[in-house]
Amino acid sequence: MANRERTNGQTPRDGARWDYSPAPEARNIVKIKPRYGLFINGEFVEPKSGQYFTTINPANEEVLAEVAYAGPEDVDRAVRAAREAYEKIWSKLPGKERAKYLFRIARIIQERSREFAVLESLDGGKPIRESRDVDIPLASAHFFYHAGWADKLEYAFHGRRPRPLGVAGQIIPWNFPLLMAAWKIAPALACGNTVVLKPAETTPLTALLLCEVFQQAELPPGVVNIITGDGQTGAWLVQHPDLDKIAFTGSTEVGKKIQKAVAGTRKRLTLELGGKAANVIFEDAAIDQAIEGIVNGIYFNQGHVCCAGSRLLVEESIYEVVVRKLKRRIELLRVGDPLDKNTDVGAINSLMQLRKIEHLVQVGVQEGAEIHQSSCPLPERGYWFRPTFFTRVSMAHTIAREEIFGPVLAVLTFRTPEEAAEIANNTRYGLSAGVWTNKGSKYLAFASRLKAGVVWCNTYNKFDPASPFGGYKESGFGREGGIHGLSAYVASGEW
Ligand code: ADP
Repeated sequence: MANRERTNGQTPRDGARWDYSPAPEARNIVKIKPRYGLFINGEFVEPKSGQYFTTINPANEEVLAEVAYAGPEDVDRAVRAAREAYEKIWSKLPGKERAKYLFRIARIIQERSREFAVLESLDGGKPIRESRDVDIPLASAHFFYHAGWADKLEYAFHGRRPRPLGVAGQIIPWNFPLLMAAWKIAPALACGNTVVLKPAETTPLTALLLCEVFQQAELPPGVVNIITGDGQTGAWLVQHPDLDKIAFTGSTEVGKKIQKAVAGTRKRLTLELGGKAANVIFEDAAIDQAIEGIVNGIYFNQGHVCCAGSRLLVEESIYEVVVRKLKRRIELLRVGDPLDKNTDVGAINSLMQLRKIEHLVQVGVQEGAEIHQSSCPLPERGYWFRPTFFTRVSMAHTIAREEIFGPVLAVLTFRTPEEAAEIANNTRYGLSAGVWTNKGSKYLAFASRLKAGVVWCNTYNKFDPASPFGGYKESGFGREGGIHGLSAYVASGEW
């Protein structure tokens, strides 16, 4: 294959991919059980529904395990366990005692991080480099960070007496399975709430491994309950009358349904929904650095990130050079085995998601945008999509408006910062944005015009537990992380 050729066995020709030997992470570090029950009241129990479903490895379609399907009775059982744990134990524990459990959980995640990383990549398809270096360390960091707050809530909300809300129902998506569980569980527990959490149907395994961590940390039974199932299970959870709070991360479409279901009830709600982020590159930016950030923003996680930089806004004067460099860079991306440490782009999470990406890309071509794709070889089995970008795109194109949630970038151009801000804000979403410039004053002036919850400058997709994350408009409301995230779990500490 031409793009895999080397010259004299040493240096790849310009634009060629190095031919690396496989470097797979050991899979046997993690023991996957053939079947998982629901985690209710501190133990794995058979579902009253009697039903199970399978979870597969999207990189090769291998069945990994059977997982219990929670029906309405199971949801009720989990909520009752959480209520009892709330009334009898957790809300009565002093903050410094709650903190000890959170510190313990954080440390055990660190100790078992290789297991978690391998399992995350097996069940979700993301490259081990991402799960090992991003997802798992950040999940542990969230427990550490919130452990630190548990006995200091009166300092976080001074002048008020922060009380927990009660029982929280939490529903998370498949793009960052363990990290989203940590984002939801850690602040809830730190503030004295108990939890019923439902992971996504395609990626339940790391949340179930986390249950083993809770057992290891001797977290009192019922403080966290994990129920697996599909959207219907999620809907039953949302409808349960004995919840005080719903926290949801997922699609805008489902977020709207949840908002309707919760309206008129006592349940508090936070929603972290879709995005169509603009990554804006000005002519004075360090272009190679920007290209790396753009690639990180849209390709390294298969575009499976709600804050993915899926629209690239390029200042007209540097358009040609940016497109040329981007073409070359996507050709060098390694798509393949998520467990291989050299892999840049892993598998698409599910067949349904792959079909959605394929459909939207086809619409992009039909509407007249010009498609550029990597020529990389793709594995035969599993769900894969080539790193792709479109030029000749305007905001009238579907691919510039709809969230694709795949490794697909739409490139647009602008002439002035005013025009760039207008295009960046011309979306129903408002989760994140990126700005690339070497002028600090330009960045500050420009960022303040963007209607996005997070704006990164000269970097992209950077997270920290102390930094609040969340959206504007149809990207949802409420923040996760930082004091703002804590305030979503206390009764009198709203900002
Ligand atoms: P995505 O498009 O990212 O898959 P979804 O919004 O479909 O996101 O799913 C995110 C989470 O919401 C998953 O755990 C899913 O099972 C759950 N879910 C789907 N539909 C509903 C619903 N109607 N009510 C509650 N939860 C739901």
